[in-house]
Amino acid sequence: MRQEVIVEVIAHAKREIPNECCGLLLGFSDDIDEAYPARNVSASATRFLIDPADHFDAIRHARASGRSVRGAYHSHPRGPSAPSETDAAAMTDPTLLHLIVSLQDAEPRISLFEWARGNFVAVDLVPEP
Ligand SMILES: [Zn+2]
Repeated sequence: MRQEVIVEVIAHAKREIPNECCGLLLGFSDDIDEAYPARNVSASATRFLIDPADHFDAIRHARASGRSVRGAYHSHPRGPSAPSETDAAAMTDPTLLHLIVSLQDAEPRISLFEWARGNFVAVDLVPEP
């Protein structure tokens, strides 16, 4: 995952305080090179719902450059960078990676998950320049 993607996700999360931010992660295969911000339809501090129109825009934007939507991200303004029960219940696309940024501490924390057999499973996040 490109370092600039992580920087953009953290910046988006800070802009949306006190609410959760959300968006899509675009790229080729596991090389995620763009964060695509979306509106949080829930406009909530504890849950998110990616605006479907923004999701379609992200798909179009990715396809225009031969990429695809590889994952989704959202923030936990006051919680850890682990999936909540709400996140598990809202899980709709098992093919997507899920990145969660926590702002509960002074230093933002980021964790990446994949969905496997009904659970979020942490995967290594490898930053690349
Ligand atoms: Zn969450």
